[in-house]
Amino acid sequence: MVPPAACRRVAVRVEGIVQGVGFRPFVFRLAHELGLAGWVRNDEHGVLAEVEGPADAVEAFVARLGADAPPLAEVDRVVCRERAVREETGFAIVASGVADPAGVPSAPITADSTTCADCLAELFDPADRRYRYPFVNCTNCGPRFTIVRGVPYDRALTTMAAFTMCDACQVEYDDPLDRRFHAQPNACPVCGPAVALVDGGELAASDPVRAAADALLAGRIVAVKGLGGYHLACRADDEGAVTALRARKHREDRPFALMAPDVVAARALVELDAAEEALLTGRERPIVLARRRPDAAVARSVAPGAPDLGVMLPYTPLHHLLAADTATTLVMTSANLSDEPIAFRDDDASRRLAAIADAFLVHDRPIETRTDDSVVRVVGGRPLMMRRSRGFVPASLALPVPAARPLLACGAELKSTFCVARGERAWVGHHIGDLKNFETLASFREGIAHFEELFAVVPEVVAHDLHPNYLSTAYAVEREGVELVGVQHHHAHLAACLAEHGEGGPAVGAILDGSGYGTDGTVWGGELLVGDLAGFERAGHLWPVRLPGGDRAVREPWRMACTWLIAAGEDVTAPPAALAGVVDPARWRTVAQMVATGTAAPMTTSAGRLFDAVGALCGLRAEVTHEGQAAIELEAAALGGGAGEPYRVDVGEGEVPSALGHPPAPDDAPAPDYAPVLIDPREAIRHIVRDVAAGVAVPAIAARFHAGLAEAVARACARVAARRGLETVVLSGGVFQNRVLLEAVAAHLGDAGLRALVPKRLPPNDGGIAYGQAAVVARRME
Ligand SMILES: [Zn+2]
Ligand SMILES: [Zn+2]
Ligand SMILES: [Zn+2]
Repeated sequence: MVPPAACRRVAVRVEGIVQGVGFRPFVFRLAHELGLAGWVRNDEHGVLAEVEGPADAVEAFVARLGADAPPLAEVDRVVCRERAVREETGFAIVASGVADPAGVPSAPITADSTTCADCLAELFDPADRRYRYPFVNCTNCGPRFTIVRGVPYDRALTTMAAFTMCDACQVEYDDPLDRRFHAQPNACPVCGPAVALVDGGELAASDPVRAAADALLAGRIVAVKGLGGYHLACRADDEGAVTALRARKHREDRPFALMAPDVVAARALVELDAAEEALLTGRERPIVLARRRPDAAVARSVAPGAPDLGVMLPYTPLHHLLAADTATTLVMTSANLSDEPIAFRDDDASRRLAAIADAFLVHDRPIETRTDDSVVRVVGGRPLMMRRSRGFVPASLALPVPAARPLLACGAELKSTFCVARGERAWVGHHIGDLKNFETLASFREGIAHFEELFAVVPEVVAHDLHPNYLSTAYAVEREGVELVGVQHHHAHLAACLAEHGEGGPAVGAILDGSGYGTDGTVWGGELLVGDLAGFERAGHLWPVRLPGGDRAVREPWRMACTWLIAAGEDVTAPPAALAGVVDPARWRTVAQMVATGTAAPMTTSAGRLFDAVGALCGLRAEVTHEGQAAIELEAAALGGGAGEPYRVDVGEGEVPSALGHPPAPDDAPAPDYAPVLIDPREAIRHIVRDVAAGVAVPAIAARFHAGLAEAVARACARVAARRGLETVVLSGGVFQNRVLLEAVAAHLGDAGLRALVPKRLPPNDGGIAYGQAAVVARRME
């Protein structure tokens, strides 16, 4: 007989991602296994359970709640309270209750998850009732965020609402011991969504997936409706098909993403280390950028000139069927024309893609939220997010300082994301893209409204970039009845990295990116900051130069070559050798004139534009179709450039000569305690001009430039850190997507005894800005 003292009853509250992930059946099974009585239910805070039985079993129960939780669950907190023993018998899953009717719902929505092993086994089992069913899913896998229309997370508020479960599916759904207990997207061939192949206006008859696979194998382009939008697919090894796809997508020359049928096939395309393979096979299933194998069997035009390939594995049952039926690697690129967002609505897709795709593999489960594939690369053995979207969103991030009032942060403009936050939780939205596009701006507005509803955030404070012309700033200003807070762009980069590591600073921030609005009204982008979450000081920056033609200089890197030649005192009467015959001499002279006079040429310290300039001086690219293209190619060149002597990049101090037209600090600005530290690459520019003229190989020049700049950035950081007695250096900004640069700077900082802090869950580019703004505002409200 158990003595009364050995028997306990506790109420257990579990918070985190615990609804819609099979948590209650897990609790049910655990209680049975441990011989405990009681009950479990969902409520607006998560999961609530009461268990009673032998004290050691109760203890084991509580310990295993977090440790053995189902795959999609994320347990943030388990709180226990003693209760009087009631000598209850049996254990039950009881109806959802509302413990506190005034409480705010906080049961989170999970990200979409790749098909689990159990569902895959059913998909390929001829005896299973879901054999080759492209929508097989269960509590441990399947669509979530992309199908959710509202809260609570319930089938009626998803895009599955129109499908009524058949008896067999309903039995699974109602059985606490079934893998599909309360799996909202549960479906089968009898009752669920179906695929169709639309080919030349005709519907393919028997097996649409096999017919699509045959079309792909025959070299045709097929639009495939996926989880978060449409892809355009074709054989990756078919030069004719890939070239046709490029031509039909209009001047598009970004590398195409690939879907390898399995990890063995992926290994034949790219070199994979353990970290890369873990990312590739993880449940988020991002595109992993990895080093291309010399013998990779892909058409030349998949990723011309790129040293890396973007590879992912199938992540929906439909993809798995296509992979099995084609047994070859496919191009799987977002279905859009250049600069447009990914198509996700059926009528819109068939209209926009009619001139690109030969056939459409479609289905009748609507996509609620357009969600692009996420993109990750591994740098220094750790994942570095390039684009955070499908598979990761909408998982929450903690804020180091809780937000005293609910807030919205509107982010920047390119690679736009937004962020809503309340208390200690922040939810960063899916990658939206360039807001200058009408459709992306609409997605931005809809996405914010959707997140405010899903996570019950009614913003009282709205954070925005200081740039007055960003459409995200315009959106913030339009919001009525809220307090507006402007956050400087590079401070937001610094704060985002500190905050996601749970830190508050102060730290040195080396923020290298394309552009951001500075507090002096000039275009910043190569910044050395000293700051914490609340504020910052500009401790130094890259040597400032003119940005001739503003945004046009982004698309035409030869303009930056011209401006840097002038800064370096080089002759600019005619384009340098590498640009002769590429740039019209008359236009060249006009731009040189703009730089000399400052007409339509604001000052900039942009690091991204410096890379553009060097790329252009090397003759890699005079014009680009997307921001950072020349810089990416310069990085690619540097990989094959060996370890030559770094070019000299000076680290100086003091004010920039006023002859450059650098605007003086506003009168009311406090005098800085220290002269700014200047990173001055003018000698490197002079050296590059001589080397290009002497016929030195571009990879060697690119490698020496990367090495010289990395060494100078680290030296400048060390100088600022020593002055202020700091030991931590944040490395962020879009330029740090450059693996060669990031690894070199981090290594130099390590040698100098400094700790380098790098973004991990959010991108270093402007996709991280919104969260940084949220962290700054939360801290300022404290
Ligand atoms: Zn599953
Ligand atoms: Zn069914
Ligand atoms: Zn930025």
